[in-house]
Amino acid sequence: MRYGFAMPRAKKKRSLAKGLLVPGFYISTIEEFSAKSGAYEDNGGVYSSKVGLPEYDKIDHYVSVKPFKVSAPERLVLGASYVGLVSDVHKNFAQVTIFLKDQLERPSPFSALLHVSRGGVRRARTATELVKPGDVVVVKLITDWVPLQVSMEGSELGVVRASCSKCGGPLTWDHDGVLKCHACGHREIRKVSVDYGRKLHSIFSG
Ligand SMILES: [Zn+2]
Repeated sequence: MRYGFAMPRAKKKRSLAKGLLVPGFYISTIEEFSAKSGAYEDNGGVYSSKVGLPEYDKIDHYVSVKPFKVSAPERLVLGASYVGLVSDVHKNFAQVTIFLKDQLERPSPFSALLHVSRGGVRRARTATELVKPGDVVVVKLITDWVPLQVSMEGSELGVVRASCSKCGGPLTWDHDGVLKCHACGHREIRKVSVDYGRKLHSIFSG
């Protein structure tokens, strides 16, 4: 039921839900948006029915949730260390494509989520403070259901290889928590593993 102009409006405009949504997550009122694929309406509200990212059609006032694509590998080992490439960084999570398990085992590559709260830096508010696209990270698998989630909590976990976001040159870690580009002098922040810069096989063989 629509109340039209008689409906009292909130004085302060609420910001739209961003970042990763999970089923049941409240998105908006039905006055603001109607539910399209990946969303549903219930009792005056619009909610997500999928794990995914919201897409707002502000002209026709529809919201849909684009499912987060994940493929589950054949065999998952909870708590095991995996090596992955950061493929995408959003506000509250990063997407990591896992291509290597410890002991150099090579699973079929699969996607996992790194939530900012599991990034290993308590003060971090956004995933961009932890990783950038193209970084190689060592992570630990913490869920074996989709969406698969990984953690960088622990000194051995984190970024092990990164390139300068200005010039693409290799970044070296000077053990002061900052990565430096020796080509252009740019300094960058990551959640760095103590194994930063070591060869991948030596990370796992100790
Ligand atoms: Zn540089």
